[in-house]
Formats: sequence, C-alpha cells, structure tokens
Amino acid sequence: MIDVHVHLHPPRLYAAIRRWFAERTDWTIDHATEPAAVAATLRAAGVERFVFCSYAHKTGMARDLNAWLAQTARDLDRYGVPLATVHLDDPDPAGDLDAAFDDGCIGLKIHEDVQRLAVDDPRFDPVFARIAQREGFVLAHIGHVPWDEDTNDGPARIARVLERHPRLRFVVAHFGVPDWAGYAARMPQHPNLFLDTTMAFTAGSPLFAGADRAFVESIADAIVLGTDYPNIPYAYGSDLQGLAALSLPPEVLQKILRENARRLSPALA
Ligand SMILES: [Zn+2]
Repeated sequence: MIDVHVHLHPPRLYAAIRRWFAERTDWTIDHATEPAAVAATLRAAGVERFVFCSYAHKTGMARDLNAWLAQTARDLDRYGVPLATVHLDDPDPAGDLDAAFDDGCIGLKIHEDVQRLAVDDPRFDPVFARIAQREGFVLAHIGHVPWDEDTNDGPARIARVLERHPRLRFVVAHFGVPDWAGYAARMPQHPNLFLDTTMAFTAGSPLFAGADRAFVESIADAIVLGTDYPNIPYAYGSDLQGLAALSLPPEVLQKILRENARRLSPALA
C-alpha cells in the first residue's frame, strides 16, 4: 500500500493543531505524532511508502517548514516522502517550491480552509507550472469541509486549473466530499485528476462519502489511498475496512491502494 495523505508537523505546530481540535470538536484523537511513531504504525499496517505534509497558515513560515519536512524524510530514510507548502503572500512562492523540490519534496499540499486561499488563485500559476515541470503532484483540501459543505464549486475551479495546467497531477483530498460526482464527471477531460480516500470510507466519519461499488469502479484509475493519519479520531485502517466492505475486484483494490499512486510521482513509481 501507498498512503498519500499523512500529516507530520513540527512538535509545536502539532500541539497547536491538537489544541484546536480539542477545543472545537468532539473528536478524540490520541495517536502519537512523532514521525518515527507514525512511521512504525504505518509499517505495521503494511504500508510500503507514505507521503506526508504540513501547511503554512501564515506568511514567513513556508521555508522553515519545508526544511523540517525534508529533514524528517531523511530521518525516515525516505520511507515517508514530503509535500512542500507555500504561502501566496510570501515574496516568492515559486522559488520556495523550487527550493523544497531541490531538498527532496515531491509535490505541494494546499489546504484552502487552514491557509485561507483558493487553488484557482492565479498566483498559483507559476507554482503549478513548476510542479508539472518537475513531475510532482498537488494534494489539495478543497473548501471548508467538514465544517461547511459549500466548496464554491470545487470541481469547476479545479477544472479551470487543469485547463491551464493539463500535465499537472492533482489529488483532491477527502474524496472530493461533497462534490465527488462533479469531479468524476470531469475526469474524462482531465486524466490527471485524482481523489484520495481520506476519511471518506470510514463509517461514522464526518466526511463519509457513501460511494457505492459501481461508482468506485467507474473511476478506479483515479482513486488513491489517503488517511489523514495520525490526525483522525479512529484507528489506522478504518478506511481500508470501508473499502473492503465494497467487495471490489482485487485488481481494482490494488489500483486504489498502490498502483494509481505510483503515477503521481517518479518517487513513488
Ligand atoms: Zn489532511
């Protein structure tokens, strides 16, 4: 298995994120956050490689955060590989992205809600051009889900991005909930558009999609495994149980758990 959506943050930032969840949600999240502990859990679950990310929620922090992410990947002997972060109000986001790639990052994480920005902001254009050129990928949390279902038409906004950057590989997190059908409808025109499974196949999760077997099979080449581990209020593997419950043909499951992710980056191939 390849898990493309894991969160590792520097200790102080992680503590702040956990406080936020403790104050604003009734989620009980108690998984250890140290990179080595997270890696050990994934290894024990049979994950062969994982992709991890953080995100810059204000200006002036992306460079340091990217350096921490790259160093953490080295500490993990690149069992985990990082996505970079940029902030659009920093002086040179494309330069920050380049530096992060030079240091071992393989793509970019965008969180529209936490970072208070939009993926279709034209200031992302030079950043996306760079990522496409360097054969990386984007993983994006679109809108304010699960706190608010309005994504300002995420599928249309991402289609516009992919029209400008057809070679850009773009993964929408959380299976695109609540817009998964809208993303699927655009996939014939945008073969580099993917959805990850993060929280969308765990019964009782606030982002449970309820997608059925026929739907999943219809976009089997465009689904990749993601989990949000360790920032989830349930055990690692719950999404896998949800996928297993669909009784998908083994070759379809294999695409979702591994083969599709290999197309996102040469580092995962
Ligand atoms: Zn996430």
